[in-house]
Amino acid sequence: MPRIYIETYGCQMNVSDSELMVGVLGREGYVRTDDPAEADVLLVNTCAVRAHAEQRVLGRMGELKRYKRPGDVLGVVGCMAQRLGPKLLERVPQVDLVIGPDGYRGLPELIARARQGQRAADVAFKSWEHYEDVPPVRGGAVSAFVTVQRGCDYRCTFCIVPMTRGPERSRKLTDVVREVTDLAANGTTEVTLLGQTVNSYHDGEHDFADLLRAVGGGAVPGIRRVRFTSPYPTDFTDRVLAAMAETPAVCEHVHLPAQSGSNRTLKRMLRRYTRERFLEVVAALRTAVPGIALTTDLIVGFPDETEEDFLDTISLVEQVGFDDAYTFKYSPREGTPAVRLKDHVPDTVAGERLERLIGVVRGVARRRNMALVGTTHEVLVEGRAKRGGLLQARTRTNKIALVEGPEGWIGSYRRVRFTGTTGSTFTGWPVEQELATVG
Ligand code: SF4
Repeated sequence: MPRIYIETYGCQMNVSDSELMVGVLGREGYVRTDDPAEADVLLVNTCAVRAHAEQRVLGRMGELKRYKRPGDVLGVVGCMAQRLGPKLLERVPQVDLVIGPDGYRGLPELIARARQGQRAADVAFKSWEHYEDVPPVRGGAVSAFVTVQRGCDYRCTFCIVPMTRGPERSRKLTDVVREVTDLAANGTTEVTLLGQTVNSYHDGEHDFADLLRAVGGGAVPGIRRVRFTSPYPTDFTDRVLAAMAETPAVCEHVHLPAQSGSNRTLKRMLRRYTRERFLEVVAALRTAVPGIALTTDLIVGFPDETEEDFLDTISLVEQVGFDDAYTFKYSPREGTPAVRLKDHVPDTVAGERLERLIGVVRGVARRRNMALVGTTHEVLVEGRAKRGGLLQARTRTNKIALVEGPEGWIGSYRRVRFTGTTGSTFTGWPVEQELATVG
Protein backbone atom coordinates (compact mmCIF):
# COMPACT_ATOMS: atom_id res chain seq x y z
CA MET A 1 0.00 0.00 0.00
CA PRO A 2 1.38 3.46 -0.82
CA ARG A 3 2.04 5.60 2.22
CA ILE A 4 1.50 9.28 2.90
CA TYR A 5 3.29 11.32 5.54
CA ILE A 6 1.75 14.68 6.47
CA GLU A 7 3.32 17.23 8.77
CA THR A 8 0.83 19.80 9.97
CA TYR A 9 1.56 23.37 11.10
CA GLY A 10 -0.81 26.07 12.33
CA CYS A 11 -4.40 25.94 13.47
CA GLN A 12 -6.97 23.19 14.06
CA MET A 13 -8.38 23.89 10.60
CA ASN A 14 -5.10 22.60 9.20
CA VAL A 15 -5.30 19.50 11.40
CA SER A 16 -8.78 18.93 9.98
CA ASP A 17 -7.58 19.56 6.41
CA SER A 18 -4.75 17.04 6.85
CA GLU A 19 -7.40 14.44 7.81
CA LEU A 20 -9.27 15.43 4.67
CA MET A 21 -6.17 14.93 2.50
CA VAL A 22 -5.66 11.48 3.98
CA GLY A 23 -9.31 10.88 3.02
CA VAL A 24 -8.68 12.04 -0.57
CA LEU A 25 -5.61 9.82 -0.91
CA GLY A 26 -7.23 6.98 1.05
CA ARG A 27 -9.59 6.55 -1.89
CA GLU A 28 -6.48 5.86 -3.98
CA GLY A 29 -5.30 3.21 -1.54
CA TYR A 30 -2.89 5.35 0.51
CA VAL A 31 -2.47 4.88 4.26
CA ARG A 32 -0.98 7.40 6.65
CA THR A 33 2.43 6.87 8.20
CA ASP A 34 4.21 8.77 10.96
CA ASP A 35 7.59 7.88 9.49
CA PRO A 36 8.78 10.09 6.62
CA ALA A 37 11.38 7.47 5.71
CA GLU A 38 8.71 5.00 4.62
CA ALA A 39 6.45 7.49 2.81
CA ASP A 40 5.82 7.59 -0.94
CA VAL A 41 4.22 11.03 -0.66
CA LEU A 42 5.42 13.64 1.85
CA LEU A 43 3.22 16.68 2.42
CA VAL A 44 3.78 19.70 4.62
CA ASN A 45 0.50 21.42 5.51
CA THR A 46 1.48 24.99 6.20
CA CYS A 47 0.43 28.15 7.99
CA ALA A 48 0.96 31.66 6.61
CA VAL A 49 -0.15 33.71 9.59
CA ARG A 50 3.37 34.60 10.72
CA ALA A 51 6.65 34.91 8.84
CA HIS A 52 8.34 32.71 11.43
CA ALA A 53 6.04 29.75 10.63
CA GLU A 54 6.92 30.05 6.94
CA GLN A 55 10.65 30.15 7.67
CA ARG A 56 10.32 26.96 9.69
CA VAL A 57 8.60 25.22 6.77
CA LEU A 58 11.33 26.28 4.35
CA GLY A 59 13.93 24.85 6.71
CA ARG A 60 11.89 21.69 7.10
CA MET A 61 11.71 21.16 3.32
CA GLY A 62 15.49 20.94 3.29
CA GLU A 63 15.35 18.22 5.97
CA LEU A 64 12.53 16.23 4.34
CA LYS A 65 14.40 16.19 1.06
CA ARG A 66 16.66 13.47 2.42
CA TYR A 67 13.70 11.06 2.75
CA LYS A 68 12.79 11.46 -0.90
CA ARG A 69 13.60 8.35 -2.90
CA PRO A 70 13.24 8.23 -6.70
CA GLY A 71 9.53 8.31 -7.51
CA ASP A 72 8.58 9.87 -4.17
CA VAL A 73 6.70 13.15 -4.16
CA LEU A 74 7.24 16.11 -1.84
CA GLY A 75 4.48 18.71 -1.66
CA VAL A 76 3.64 21.93 0.14
CA VAL A 77 -0.06 22.42 0.85
CA GLY A 78 -2.16 24.82 2.92
CA CYS A 79 -2.01 28.56 3.49
CA MET A 80 1.67 29.19 2.72
CA ALA A 81 1.26 27.16 -0.48
CA GLN A 82 -1.72 29.34 -1.39
CA ARG A 83 0.15 32.54 -0.59
CA LEU A 84 3.29 31.77 -2.54
CA GLY A 85 1.84 29.52 -5.27
CA PRO A 86 4.15 28.67 -8.20
CA LYS A 87 6.86 30.92 -6.68
CA LEU A 88 7.41 28.15 -4.16
CA LEU A 89 8.30 25.74 -6.97
CA GLU A 90 10.93 28.20 -8.20
CA ARG A 91 12.27 28.84 -4.74
CA VAL A 92 12.45 25.25 -3.47
CA PRO A 93 13.66 22.88 -6.21
CA GLN A 94 12.92 19.70 -4.26
CA VAL A 95 9.19 20.56 -4.06
CA ASP A 96 7.06 18.74 -6.65
CA LEU A 97 3.62 20.15 -5.97
CA VAL A 98 1.98 23.15 -4.35
CA ILE A 99 -1.72 23.07 -3.46
CA GLY A 100 -3.89 25.63 -1.65
CA PRO A 101 -6.77 24.78 0.70
CA ASP A 102 -9.36 24.54 -2.10
CA GLY A 103 -7.31 22.16 -4.28
CA TYR A 104 -6.98 19.02 -2.18
CA ARG A 105 -9.23 16.84 -4.32
CA GLY A 106 -6.65 17.36 -7.10
CA LEU A 107 -3.90 15.71 -5.04
CA PRO A 108 -3.95 12.32 -6.88
CA GLU A 109 -3.68 14.06 -10.24
CA LEU A 110 -0.83 16.34 -9.21
CA ILE A 111 1.01 13.44 -7.58
CA ALA A 112 0.70 11.45 -10.84
CA ARG A 113 1.98 14.44 -12.82
CA ALA A 114 4.87 14.93 -10.42
CA ARG A 115 5.87 11.30 -10.97
CA GLN A 116 6.09 12.08 -14.66
CA GLY A 117 8.37 14.97 -13.90
CA GLN A 118 5.77 17.73 -14.14
CA ARG A 119 5.94 19.97 -11.11
CA ALA A 120 2.68 21.88 -10.66
CA ALA A 121 0.73 24.30 -8.47
CA ASP A 122 -3.02 24.60 -7.91
CA VAL A 123 -3.97 27.67 -5.92
CA ALA A 124 -7.32 28.54 -7.50
CA PHE A 125 -10.13 29.51 -5.12
CA LYS A 126 -13.20 27.32 -5.53
CA SER A 127 -16.06 28.89 -3.66
CA TRP A 128 -18.16 25.76 -4.12
CA GLU A 129 -15.60 23.48 -2.47
CA HIS A 130 -16.79 21.83 0.75
CA TYR A 131 -15.24 18.37 0.19
CA GLU A 132 -18.64 16.99 1.12
CA ASP A 133 -18.00 13.67 -0.63
CA VAL A 134 -14.61 13.11 1.03
CA PRO A 135 -14.73 11.37 4.40
CA PRO A 136 -11.79 12.65 6.50
CA VAL A 137 -9.54 9.94 7.93
CA ARG A 138 -9.06 10.82 11.58
CA GLY A 139 -6.50 9.59 14.06
CA GLY A 140 -8.38 9.08 17.31
CA ALA A 141 -12.01 8.28 17.95
CA VAL A 142 -12.57 10.09 21.26
CA SER A 143 -12.63 13.68 20.05
CA ALA A 144 -12.96 14.98 16.50
CA PHE A 145 -12.67 18.24 14.60
CA VAL A 146 -15.54 18.91 12.22
CA THR A 147 -15.12 21.75 9.73
CA VAL A 148 -18.44 23.55 9.32
CA GLN A 149 -17.28 26.65 7.47
CA ARG A 150 -14.35 27.49 5.20
CA GLY A 151 -12.84 30.89 4.35
CA CYS A 152 -13.48 34.31 5.87
CA ASP A 153 -15.37 37.43 4.77
CA TYR A 154 -13.85 39.71 7.39
CA ARG A 155 -10.90 41.85 6.49
CA CYS A 156 -8.85 42.34 9.63
CA THR A 157 -5.91 44.34 8.35
CA PHE A 158 -3.20 42.12 9.88
CA CYS A 159 -4.65 38.85 8.64
CA ILE A 160 -3.62 36.81 5.61
CA VAL A 161 -6.42 34.23 6.00
CA PRO A 162 -8.95 35.84 3.60
CA MET A 163 -6.19 35.75 0.99
CA THR A 164 -5.24 32.13 1.63
CA ARG A 165 -8.61 30.56 2.37
CA GLY A 166 -10.89 32.69 0.22
CA PRO A 167 -14.47 33.78 0.89
CA GLU A 168 -16.60 32.35 3.67
CA ARG A 169 -18.87 29.41 2.91
CA SER A 170 -20.76 27.15 5.28
CA ARG A 171 -21.59 23.50 4.90
CA LYS A 172 -25.20 22.39 4.96
CA LEU A 173 -26.51 21.76 8.44
CA THR A 174 -27.81 18.34 7.42
CA ASP A 175 -24.34 17.38 6.14
CA VAL A 176 -22.68 18.43 9.41
CA VAL A 177 -25.27 16.50 11.45
CA ARG A 178 -24.74 13.44 9.26
CA GLU A 179 -20.97 13.60 9.80
CA VAL A 180 -21.34 14.03 13.57
CA THR A 181 -23.85 11.16 13.68
CA ASP A 182 -21.36 8.90 11.87
CA LEU A 183 -18.61 9.96 14.28
CA ALA A 184 -20.81 9.23 17.30
CA ALA A 185 -21.72 5.84 15.87
CA ASN A 186 -17.99 5.07 15.83
CA GLY A 187 -17.42 6.10 19.42
CA THR A 188 -16.67 9.82 19.26
CA THR A 189 -18.25 11.68 22.16
CA GLU A 190 -16.72 15.15 21.73
CA VAL A 191 -16.70 17.29 18.59
CA THR A 192 -15.14 20.68 17.92
CA LEU A 193 -16.91 22.64 15.19
CA LEU A 194 -14.37 24.60 13.14
CA GLY A 195 -14.67 27.80 11.13
CA GLN A 196 -12.67 31.02 10.78
CA THR A 197 -15.65 32.93 12.20
CA VAL A 198 -17.60 29.88 13.23
CA ASN A 199 -20.48 31.70 14.91
CA SER A 200 -21.34 33.46 11.65
CA TYR A 201 -22.17 30.00 10.24
CA HIS A 202 -25.33 30.04 8.13
CA ASP A 203 -27.09 27.59 5.87
CA GLY A 204 -30.20 29.18 4.34
CA GLU A 205 -32.39 30.16 7.27
CA HIS A 206 -30.28 28.09 9.69
CA ASP A 207 -27.71 29.92 11.81
CA PHE A 208 -25.05 28.82 14.27
CA ALA A 209 -27.65 28.55 17.04
CA ASP A 210 -29.52 25.95 15.00
CA LEU A 211 -26.28 24.09 14.36
CA LEU A 212 -25.39 23.96 18.07
CA ARG A 213 -28.85 22.67 18.94
CA ALA A 214 -28.84 20.14 16.10
CA VAL A 215 -25.46 18.69 17.05
CA GLY A 216 -25.51 19.04 20.84
CA GLY A 217 -29.18 19.04 21.76
CA GLY A 218 -29.48 15.29 22.25
CA ALA A 219 -30.65 14.43 18.73
CA VAL A 220 -27.28 12.83 17.99
CA PRO A 221 -26.98 9.96 20.48
CA GLY A 222 -23.55 9.67 22.09
CA ILE A 223 -22.42 13.28 21.64
CA ARG A 224 -21.62 14.51 25.09
CA ARG A 225 -19.47 17.57 24.42
CA VAL A 226 -19.59 20.21 21.68
CA ARG A 227 -16.88 22.83 21.34
CA PHE A 228 -16.36 25.42 18.63
CA THR A 229 -13.56 27.67 17.44
CA SER A 230 -12.93 30.43 16.58
CA PRO A 231 -15.88 32.75 16.97
CA TYR A 232 -15.90 36.43 16.02
CA PRO A 233 -16.78 38.47 19.15
CA THR A 234 -19.69 40.41 17.72
CA ASP A 235 -21.31 37.43 16.01
CA PHE A 236 -22.69 36.15 19.30
CA THR A 237 -26.34 36.92 18.64
CA ASP A 238 -28.99 36.46 21.33
CA ARG A 239 -30.05 33.28 19.52
CA VAL A 240 -26.51 31.87 19.69
CA LEU A 241 -26.19 32.80 23.38
CA ALA A 242 -29.53 31.11 24.12
CA ALA A 243 -28.48 28.00 22.21
CA MET A 244 -25.23 27.85 24.19
CA ALA A 245 -27.14 28.18 27.45
CA GLU A 246 -29.82 25.63 26.57
CA THR A 247 -27.82 22.96 24.74
CA PRO A 248 -26.45 20.54 27.33
CA ALA A 249 -23.48 19.31 25.32
CA VAL A 250 -22.09 22.79 24.54
CA CYS A 251 -19.03 23.20 26.74
CA GLU A 252 -18.44 26.13 29.06
CA HIS A 253 -15.46 27.52 27.19
CA VAL A 254 -15.13 30.08 24.43
CA HIS A 255 -11.95 31.15 22.71
CA LEU A 256 -12.79 34.80 22.07
CA PRO A 257 -10.07 36.57 20.06
CA ALA A 258 -9.73 40.16 21.30
CA GLN A 259 -6.45 41.00 19.46
CA SER A 260 -6.13 44.31 21.35
CA GLY A 261 -7.63 46.24 24.23
CA SER A 262 -7.11 49.63 22.60
CA ASN A 263 -9.90 51.20 20.56
CA ARG A 264 -7.37 53.04 18.41
CA THR A 265 -5.56 49.79 17.56
CA LEU A 266 -8.80 47.82 17.09
CA LYS A 267 -9.87 50.41 14.56
CA ARG A 268 -6.60 50.16 12.66
CA MET A 269 -6.94 46.39 12.74
CA LEU A 270 -10.44 46.76 11.28
CA ARG A 271 -11.88 44.67 14.06
CA ARG A 272 -15.58 45.47 14.10
CA TYR A 273 -15.93 46.22 17.79
CA THR A 274 -14.65 48.55 20.43
CA ARG A 275 -13.18 47.52 23.75
CA GLU A 276 -16.52 48.45 25.35
CA ARG A 277 -18.46 46.26 22.93
CA PHE A 278 -16.04 43.38 23.52
CA LEU A 279 -16.64 43.70 27.25
CA GLU A 280 -20.39 43.62 26.63
CA VAL A 281 -19.95 40.34 24.74
CA VAL A 282 -17.90 38.95 27.64
CA ALA A 283 -20.66 39.95 30.06
CA ALA A 284 -23.36 38.44 27.85
CA LEU A 285 -21.43 35.15 27.61
CA ARG A 286 -20.96 35.04 31.38
CA THR A 287 -24.64 35.74 31.96
CA ALA A 288 -25.75 33.10 29.46
CA VAL A 289 -23.24 30.46 30.59
CA PRO A 290 -22.24 30.91 34.24
CA GLY A 291 -18.73 29.68 34.97
CA ILE A 292 -17.67 29.90 31.33
CA ALA A 293 -13.90 29.96 30.74
CA LEU A 294 -12.63 32.54 28.28
CA THR A 295 -9.38 32.43 26.36
CA THR A 296 -8.18 34.85 23.72
CA ASP A 297 -5.63 35.88 21.08
CA LEU A 298 -3.66 39.11 21.53
CA ILE A 299 -1.26 40.90 19.21
CA VAL A 300 1.36 43.38 20.42
CA GLY A 301 3.43 45.76 18.33
CA PHE A 302 0.77 46.42 15.69
CA PRO A 303 1.77 49.50 13.63
CA ASP A 304 1.57 52.71 15.65
CA GLU A 305 0.74 50.87 18.88
CA THR A 306 1.73 53.32 21.61
CA GLU A 307 2.62 52.43 25.17
CA GLU A 308 -0.84 53.66 26.13
CA ASP A 309 -2.48 51.35 23.57
CA PHE A 310 -0.43 48.46 24.89
CA LEU A 311 -1.45 49.24 28.47
CA ASP A 312 -5.08 49.09 27.30
CA THR A 313 -4.42 45.50 26.20
CA ILE A 314 -2.87 44.70 29.57
CA SER A 315 -5.84 46.19 31.37
CA LEU A 316 -8.27 44.23 29.16
CA VAL A 317 -6.60 40.99 30.24
CA GLU A 318 -6.98 42.02 33.87
CA GLN A 319 -10.52 43.33 33.47
CA VAL A 320 -11.82 40.22 31.67
CA GLY A 321 -9.72 37.79 33.67
CA PHE A 322 -8.94 35.51 30.74
CA ASP A 323 -8.22 31.90 31.61
CA ASP A 324 -5.42 31.92 29.06
CA ALA A 325 -4.25 33.80 25.97
CA TYR A 326 -2.20 33.14 22.87
CA THR A 327 0.06 36.15 22.59
CA PHE A 328 1.85 37.21 19.44
CA LYS A 329 4.19 39.87 18.17
CA TYR A 330 2.69 41.47 15.07
CA SER A 331 4.11 39.84 11.93
CA PRO A 332 3.72 41.90 8.73
CA ARG A 333 2.29 39.76 5.93
CA GLU A 334 2.69 40.83 2.35
CA GLY A 335 -0.70 41.39 0.73
CA THR A 336 -2.46 42.44 3.93
CA PRO A 337 -3.60 46.06 4.36
CA ALA A 338 -1.58 46.52 7.56
CA VAL A 339 1.77 46.38 5.73
CA ARG A 340 0.89 49.78 4.29
CA LEU A 341 0.31 51.29 7.72
CA LYS A 342 3.02 53.63 8.93
CA ASP A 343 4.89 53.83 12.21
CA HIS A 344 6.07 50.30 12.63
CA VAL A 345 6.89 49.46 16.22
CA PRO A 346 10.58 48.55 16.64
CA ASP A 347 11.10 44.84 17.18
CA THR A 348 12.82 45.39 20.52
CA VAL A 349 9.83 47.38 21.81
CA ALA A 350 7.36 44.75 20.53
CA GLY A 351 9.46 41.99 22.10
CA GLU A 352 9.57 43.75 25.44
CA ARG A 353 5.79 44.33 25.34
CA LEU A 354 5.23 40.67 24.52
CA GLU A 355 7.24 39.64 27.60
CA ARG A 356 5.24 41.98 29.82
CA LEU A 357 1.96 40.76 28.37
CA ILE A 358 2.89 37.10 28.85
CA GLY A 359 3.71 37.88 32.48
CA VAL A 360 0.30 39.46 33.05
CA VAL A 361 -1.57 36.67 31.21
CA ARG A 362 0.22 34.04 33.31
CA GLY A 363 -0.47 35.92 36.53
CA VAL A 364 -4.19 36.28 35.79
CA ALA A 365 -4.47 32.63 34.70
CA ARG A 366 -2.61 31.47 37.80
CA ARG A 367 -4.96 33.41 40.10
CA ARG A 368 -8.01 31.94 38.39
CA ASN A 369 -6.59 28.43 38.43
CA MET A 370 -5.45 28.59 42.07
CA ALA A 371 -9.05 29.35 42.99
CA LEU A 372 -10.09 26.07 41.35
CA VAL A 373 -7.83 23.84 43.46
CA GLY A 374 -10.09 21.68 45.60
CA THR A 375 -13.02 21.80 43.16
CA THR A 376 -14.38 18.75 41.33
CA HIS A 377 -14.88 18.45 37.56
CA GLU A 378 -16.01 16.04 34.90
CA VAL A 379 -13.06 15.26 32.63
CA LEU A 380 -12.65 13.38 29.39
CA VAL A 381 -9.49 11.27 29.56
CA GLU A 382 -7.73 11.99 26.26
CA GLY A 383 -4.59 9.92 26.39
CA ARG A 384 -1.23 9.46 28.06
CA ALA A 385 0.45 12.60 29.34
CA LYS A 386 3.87 13.32 27.88
CA ARG A 387 5.59 12.82 31.23
CA GLY A 388 5.25 10.99 34.49
CA GLY A 389 3.16 7.99 33.43
CA LEU A 390 -0.03 9.96 34.06
CA LEU A 391 -3.17 10.37 31.98
CA GLN A 392 -4.14 13.69 30.40
CA ALA A 393 -7.75 14.72 30.86
CA ARG A 394 -9.78 17.83 29.96
CA THR A 395 -12.66 19.58 31.69
CA ARG A 396 -15.62 21.07 29.88
CA THR A 397 -13.99 24.45 30.57
CA ASN A 398 -10.89 23.29 28.65
CA LYS A 399 -8.64 22.95 31.70
CA ILE A 400 -6.08 20.19 31.50
CA ALA A 401 -5.64 17.82 34.43
CA LEU A 402 -3.04 15.10 34.84
CA VAL A 403 -4.55 12.10 36.56
CA GLU A 404 -3.24 8.79 37.79
CA GLY A 405 -5.10 5.88 36.26
CA PRO A 406 -4.95 2.87 33.98
CA GLU A 407 -4.63 3.08 30.20
CA GLY A 408 -8.15 1.66 29.97
CA TRP A 409 -9.55 4.98 31.17
CA ILE A 410 -8.62 6.67 27.89
CA GLY A 411 -11.80 7.75 26.17
CA SER A 412 -13.90 7.67 29.33
CA TYR A 413 -15.39 10.42 31.47
CA ARG A 414 -14.37 10.64 35.12
CA ARG A 415 -14.89 13.01 37.99
CA VAL A 416 -11.67 14.38 39.41
CA ARG A 417 -10.84 16.76 42.21
CA PHE A 418 -8.13 19.28 41.41
CA THR A 419 -5.37 18.75 43.96
CA GLY A 420 -2.87 21.31 42.67
CA THR A 421 -1.92 23.56 39.77
CA THR A 422 1.26 24.63 38.05
CA GLY A 423 -0.62 27.83 37.24
CA SER A 424 -1.76 26.52 33.88
CA THR A 425 -2.43 22.77 34.25
CA PHE A 426 -3.78 20.78 37.17
CA THR A 427 -3.13 17.57 39.00
CA GLY A 428 -6.36 15.69 39.62
CA TRP A 429 -7.54 12.88 41.84
CA PRO A 430 -10.33 10.58 40.60
CA VAL A 431 -13.24 10.80 43.04
CA GLU A 432 -15.75 8.50 41.39
CA GLN A 433 -15.97 5.50 39.22
CA GLU A 434 -16.35 5.77 35.49
CA LEU A 435 -19.14 8.03 34.22
CA ALA A 436 -19.24 6.77 30.67
CA THR A 437 -17.08 4.82 28.31
CA VAL A 438 -16.68 5.38 24.62
CA GLY A 439 -18.64 2.60 22.93
S1 SF4 B 1 -11.94 37.27 11.29
FE1 SF4 B 1 -10.14 38.55 10.89
S2 SF4 B 1 -8.49 37.48 12.03
FE2 SF4 B 1 -10.15 35.98 11.78
S3 SF4 B 1 -9.65 34.87 9.90
FE3 SF4 B 1 -11.05 36.54 9.32
S4 SF4 B 1 -9.70 38.25 8.72
FE4 SF4 B 1 -8.44 36.75 9.87
